[in-house]
Amino acid sequence: MLIVQKYGGTSVGTLERIEKVAERVLKTASEGHKLVIVVSAMSGETNKLISYAKYFSPIPKESEMDLLMSSGERVTSSLLAIAIYAKGHNAISLSGRGAGIVTDSNFTKARIETIDPKPILSAIEDGTIVVVAGFQGIDEQGRVTTLGRGGSDLSAVAIAGAIGADLCEIYTDVDGVYTTDPRIEPKAKKLPVISYDEMLEMASLGAKVLQTRSVEMAKKLNVNLVTRSSFNENEGTLITHEDKIMEKPLVSGIALDKNQARVGLIGVVDKPGIASEIFGALAESNINVDMIVQTSGGSLGENITNIDFTVNRDELAKAEKCIYKFKNSHEIRDIQINSNIAKVSVVGVGMKSHTGVASKAFTTMAKENINIMMISTSEIKISMVIDDKYSELAVRTLHSAYQLDK
Ligand code: ADP
Ligand code: ASP
Ligand code: MG
Repeated sequence: MLIVQKYGGTSVGTLERIEKVAERVLKTASEGHKLVIVVSAMSGETNKLISYAKYFSPIPKESEMDLLMSSGERVTSSLLAIAIYAKGHNAISLSGRGAGIVTDSNFTKARIETIDPKPILSAIEDGTIVVVAGFQGIDEQGRVTTLGRGGSDLSAVAIAGAIGADLCEIYTDVDGVYTTDPRIEPKAKKLPVISYDEMLEMASLGAKVLQTRSVEMAKKLNVNLVTRSSFNENEGTLITHEDKIMEKPLVSGIALDKNQARVGLIGVVDKPGIASEIFGALAESNINVDMIVQTSGGSLGENITNIDFTVNRDELAKAEKCIYKFKNSHEIRDIQINSNIAKVSVVGVGMKSHTGVASKAFTTMAKENINIMMISTSEIKISMVIDDKYSELAVRTLHSAYQLDK
């Protein structure tokens, strides 16, 4: 088989761990498989590099950030190739550029446009193990780009699609995808299988076990995706098409996203085009806006409204900068920022055909006296914004309310 294996930050977190990965890789190779390995930076390394840049500026120049951040994955890819070679097997490491990964120029969250499969395919032909630095590519101008946090998952899936791999295994520090983060709820259960769509929701709502865009890509390219632990031999979780799953639970999991902030625009002049202006400006700055709620300005007067929206906390500084020009032009009276919020979500394809799932979520929050600040729903999820000090409590009570621990 042709297999792509991706090892995350904890799995390559120390030199000893890299050696263990080399041994695991060699064992798979000895079973006759051709292997492409994708690695993350050592755990904590990307955060460290970002904090270095923030020493100089709260919003560091993005194109420089990418070259800086990509270095972490280069270190681990070359070290792993060195470790494998030292154990007597041929191995080479490739950067994103070397692996033919071309992206757009959206620095810090670039999208993959094409992957030339030739460099990897020709390197593995004679049994050489190719180790690719995850998380990165180059744009048309040849500048280094990165693929958004957790982006090595995407590198692995995209490479698996491009070279027509039989399997893409994501090795991490948990056994697979659980009904919720097992670090928050120890009673969480491992799911043997989950549909691409549910995994997509879980990931985009905060379950960082897989990066959202990697799941999107796996679905699009029909990649056989499995997550499992690099610390044991347990079977992991298969992510596949919904119609291949026999038993569909009502609710599959609870996701938590603490990396959220709420921006309240108070006293917005209510005229046609104002929302388009504000959110157009945010989009132009490449900021992802999640929930949006518009309410009446009440006592502020006629033709005045309030707009609340949420963004990722790491994009808050950029969002604030973008919004302030509206305040300066008096289209907004005041801006209120709240970073102490979290989004907790209930996900399940079974919701499509059952009623009462949402009301159960609201009742569960009420019983614990947790106030819900914002709600949004889709066919297969319910999300609630709450005070982040209740995050873990909310996750655990929802987990037990939907009997996910049974
Ligand atoms: P890696 O560095 O290997 O990419 P991540 O830290 O990105 O690993 O993702 C793995 C982590 O995801 C786990 O340690 C776990 O705490 C967290 N996680 C959140 N939700 C879930 C879930 N539903 N199932 C499994 N892990 C989850
Ligand atoms: N090192 C990058 C990050 O921490 C990419 C990854 O680990 O997937 O976001
Ligand atoms: Mg990850």
